[in-house]
Amino acid sequence: MKSAISDTLKVLSAIVLVLGVIGGFVFAFILADMVYSGFFYGILYFVIIVLSSGITSAILYGLATVIELLESLNDRMYEISDSLDETNKSMDIVTGKGELLGEDEWKCPKCGRVNKNYVGTCVCGQSKY
Ligand SMILES: [Zn+2]
Repeated sequence: MKSAISDTLKVLSAIVLVLGVIGGFVFAFILADMVYSGFFYGILYFVIIVLSSGITSAILYGLATVIELLESLNDRMYEISDSLDETNKSMDIVTGKGELLGEDEWKCPKCGRVNKNYVGTCVCGQSKY
C-alpha cells in the first residue's frame, strides 16, 4: 500500500533542502552586501541556513520513513489478524461477553457456564437442548 502522507513528506523534505540551499545563497549575498559584514559572515549565514534546512529536511524524511514503517507494520497486522480470523471462523463463536467458545463447547443460556459438548445437562440443571 502506497502512503500519500510519507510521499508528501519526502517531496517536502526535498523542497526544503533545495529552498534552503537557494535561500542560503541569496540570503548570504544580500545580507553580506547589506550589512557590509563581508565575505566571512556571508559564508556563515549560508552555512547556518543550509544546515538548518538540511536538519529540517532530514527530520521530514525521517518522519516519512517512520510513517512508512508504521504503515507496513499495520498492513502486516491486518494480514495476521485476517489469517487468524480465517482459522477461527470455523472453530469458534464469539459469545456476548467476548469469550471464545470452542466447537466442542456450549454455553448454558441460564447460568452462562461453558460446558463441554458431552455434558448434556449443566450443573444448574438446564438441559443442553
Ligand atoms: Zn447452567
